[in-house]
Amino acid sequence: MSYSRGPPCISGGSSTAYRHEFDSFYEINYPQIQLAMNQHRCGIDIEFPPEAFQHLEARHGEAPRKVILSSVNAQIVSNEFLVRFQTWTLVPWNRSDTYIEELAKDCYLYSICAHDRIPGLRDEITLTNLIISRVRQLEAGENCQTRTFQCPYCYMDYMVDAKDLGEREFAVITTKWVNLGAGEESPDAKWRSHEDQYIDRRELDQTADHRRGIRADFENQAELSLEDLTADNERKLFSTRKRQGVTRAPDGCVWRWSGTTRWYLDPTKSNPSIWERWL
Ligand SMILES: [Zn+2]
Ligand SMILES: [Zn+2]
Repeated sequence: MSYSRGPPCISGGSSTAYRHEFDSFYEINYPQIQLAMNQHRCGIDIEFPPEAFQHLEARHGEAPRKVILSSVNAQIVSNEFLVRFQTWTLVPWNRSDTYIEELAKDCYLYSICAHDRIPGLRDEITLTNLIISRVRQLEAGENCQTRTFQCPYCYMDYMVDAKDLGEREFAVITTKWVNLGAGEESPDAKWRSHEDQYIDRRELDQTADHRRGIRADFENQAELSLEDLTADNERKLFSTRKRQGVTRAPDGCVWRWSGTTRWYLDPTKSNPSIWERWL
């Protein structure tokens, strides 16, 4: 875990860290993937199983009751390191217009990957536009099927949904599935696709041995299904977090306060996190 924020994917030239959202300090460094893949290939326990990459944080915004919760789950599928990120944003209904204005204005805060605003990328699949149209549908009471999209540049599938949580508030849910490659000695094309240059993955896919979606690859083997994860994250959104070192919430969650508007869910003893010592 680093102490700086930055845009998603791998940005800044020599960087070797993948970030999932602008406002989070969570990042995955290439050597950590190499360790996890080594453990997977050799079968020797060096305390780097994919479960150690699990992470959950909550941030409370300036605006009244704007709460953001994001989760991370990693898994190795067909010798590649895949990660599922899900982010919930809780917004009061009486602030939905302000929220949408913010989305359009501060869109860099809401990028889903480094390629979100490449000229020529179809407008309708940028994250902010997907969120806006989903919220408008929710306001109109339309129940729609959400689709899975793919970034044409990096190995990532993503989906946007919104949920009406009653009279007071609604939530926007974004989920993305990212392929971070095989963790070989030198980074492969899948890892490098997340760098903020333009490699067109559609060309790389021509020679790839399989072209299935990353979402399908992840979900076919996931220990925790997308439905269960989503329900679990919704419950945790409403968990009790106090501005004190540790909060033991009535729902069993143990939250560690990082001092400002940020909390981390305490990793369980049976499943320690590789970031624990930095929390
Ligand atoms: Zn991308
Ligand atoms: Zn990416």
